[in-house]
Amino acid sequence: MTELLHMQDCYLRRFEAQIIEVVPEAGGVVLDRTAFHPLGGGVDDDKGMLVADGHKFIVNGVRWVEGKPVHLIDDVTGLSPGMKVNGEIDWPRRYLLMRTHTAAHLLEAMIYNKTGALIGSGRVSVDSSYLGFTLDEMDKDLILGAVEEANQWVDKGAKVNISFMKREDALKDPGMVKLAGKLPPEVSELRIIEIEGIEKQACGGPHVGDIKELGAIEAVDLKNKGAKNRRLYYKVT
Ligand SMILES: [Zn+2]
Repeated sequence: MTELLHMQDCYLRRFEAQIIEVVPEAGGVVLDRTAFHPLGGGVDDDKGMLVADGHKFIVNGVRWVEGKPVHLIDDVTGLSPGMKVNGEIDWPRRYLLMRTHTAAHLLEAMIYNKTGALIGSGRVSVDSSYLGFTLDEMDKDLILGAVEEANQWVDKGAKVNISFMKREDALKDPGMVKLAGKLPPEVSELRIIEIEGIEKQACGGPHVGDIKELGAIEAVDLKNKGAKNRRLYYKVT
């Protein structure tokens, strides 16, 4: 099983690893450990490169294939299990994903506090990111007010902490029980992301260490996407 290094340290850009499997059908390799964030949880995957035996291999993305994160490479010729590799993620891309995704946590908390509405959908990418709220009506003032409030928090700053909680303990925590109950039985541990004093939730994505790093959140567009789905397009600047 691949150790996902970003789960402990989202700021790790370079790492050493070993190839455990070459997957020619998928066009990529599986490593014993990786700092790359695979596509998932509504957050785009990392790109970057692997260097093996003095040769550079561009990583076009990382996708889950049969439960394994496969680093997608155009041509896997020359790569074989057991080889050592040096990996490096495309940091400007990743850092933007980290900031944009952490902004999603913050916006979600602001809207939830005002309305009790949850996130029904969402996407974090470097091109276009949105959050879909389960609100009955499109309330422009409310949503833009939430963005403004989020920006006030960003100016003040708050630490973003990573911790891990056993499933059985999460089931006893009133704030976590709903989520823990929905997880498949094989998930024994939850990764908890807490924006100090603001919100706490289970998430496997990449985050910044302090919301100050978000800079500013800008609402780009608001769209109605059918019943109970109000979409806020946003970016961090
Ligand atoms: Zn997250």
